[in-house]
Amino acid sequence: MPNAHDPDGRTPDDDAVLDRLAALRTADLPVRGGRTMAYVYDSGLAGLDELAARAQAAFAGVNGLDMTVFPSVVALENDVVGRAAALLGGGPATAGTFTSGGTESCLLAVLTAREYARSTAGVTRPEIVLPVTAHPAFHKAALLFGLTPVTVPVDPLTFRVRAADMEAALTGRTALAVVSAPSYAHGVVDPVAEVAAVAAARGVLCHVDACIGGWYLGHRRLAGDIAPPPAFDLGVPGVTSLSVDLHKYAYTPKGASVLLFRDTELRRHGWFAHASWPGYPVVNPTLQGTRSAGPLAAAWAVLQRVGPGGYTELARRVHRATGRLVEGVGRIEGLRVLGAPEASLVAVASADPGLDPFVVADEMRPRGWYLQPQPAAAGSPANLHLTVTAAVASDERIDELLAELAAAVTRARAHGPAAVDPAMVELAAALDPDTLGPAEVALALEFAGVAADGALPERMAPVLAVLQALPPRLTERLLPEVVSRLYRASGAAGAD
Ligand SMILES: *Cc1c(COP(=O)(O)O)cnc(C)c1O
Repeated sequence: MPNAHDPDGRTPDDDAVLDRLAALRTADLPVRGGRTMAYVYDSGLAGLDELAARAQAAFAGVNGLDMTVFPSVVALENDVVGRAAALLGGGPATAGTFTSGGTESCLLAVLTAREYARSTAGVTRPEIVLPVTAHPAFHKAALLFGLTPVTVPVDPLTFRVRAADMEAALTGRTALAVVSAPSYAHGVVDPVAEVAAVAAARGVLCHVDACIGGWYLGHRRLAGDIAPPPAFDLGVPGVTSLSVDLHKYAYTPKGASVLLFRDTELRRHGWFAHASWPGYPVVNPTLQGTRSAGPLAAAWAVLQRVGPGGYTELARRVHRATGRLVEGVGRIEGLRVLGAPEASLVAVASADPGLDPFVVADEMRPRGWYLQPQPAAAGSPANLHLTVTAAVASDERIDELLAELAAAVTRARAHGPAAVDPAMVELAAALDPDTLGPAEVALALEFAGVAADGALPERMAPVLAVLQALPPRLTERLLPEVVSRLYRASGAAGAD
């Protein structure tokens, strides 16, 4: 534990504790300011964080585990879920659940579908059909809940799945078909209406993962004066559930997502009830037991303060900024945008073998910009992911980003691409991830440039080049080892 005890073992005063926390934060990426273009979402609105923090603190100790004795939780949740349903095509029958985040929403959608397929159609070896671009949360769900994932390739140019390919993958065991609106990696919207129609025709449930873009796309549609997104929500016939994260484009504190269902009858299949133990009777609508109402209260407060008009204005700005960014990237020689981004996420790849996008990211980092590397996979080339949030959504800020990007491209060209030793790759490819022992793992990580304590080098391009060259299953064996080196019970990171 990072501790602020003095050498005599006296406990520190509040300021000393908070100072220590603040000191730990200095090594992190900034969460505000718009230059961290992944992981964080900044509205740029003055006072919003402070309001959210106060609401969160006021409800931190309230426990959503028992909604019968904390009616405030029910009132807040109904209001938040109701707002999401109204925005995203819900009708009088729509039901929903507030969850801790996108992953939990996706997990619950899959669990619900599995139980629904089991009880209504007797499906015992369930499958989930999903584009290769779907979020890993669905693979996690498949693993946790015992479904077989059936991945469907996407169009190599648009990165959208084709409805016919999804249809061909449906079987009598399919519990759920998944589409993204938009996908995280490329920011494109799958053909929701077509896929939902073929799923419905087969009696298969269809989930729309609008975790990242749902709140933004819904409000962009409200704007009226800018290009509306393709139909993607619960209003589309055949769509039976939809996830939308509030801690992304609703700019609420982390720990906030909504999972919508076409009705309560579907929703109940994912709930857990237990009355055959000596303790209190249990009904868990989510995967959690004890559930702090802090994130819910904070989300409610932020939704109140920004309001539909405020979100619509932010969506207008993000839309304009994303358009300017896409256009500007297209003018930088050596860069290209993958697909046709329909939301606020842009994937920037190299158009020139002499230009390594991960070296571009390394060059941007010391200038205060974090662009997220997305290694080549499943037909998608190596690229950089840029999430445009409201804080960076002005002409000046986008032009500043484009200028930095152009300069970074020049430096990256001079630097040259990160190289991998082909002999080592060949050697690594021959390794069997299932039988890899500690010695081989250590060797492989040393080769990749990962230190014994899990520390990564300042320049990530060489590490990413190695990762990208390895078979994904081997990478999946090695990555937890890197993280495992970071988490040690005796770690005492930050303590002195
Ligand atoms: C972020 C995201 C998720 C998972 O959400 P978390 O909040 O990170 O758990 C799922 N799907 C998509 C498309 C996302 O972008």
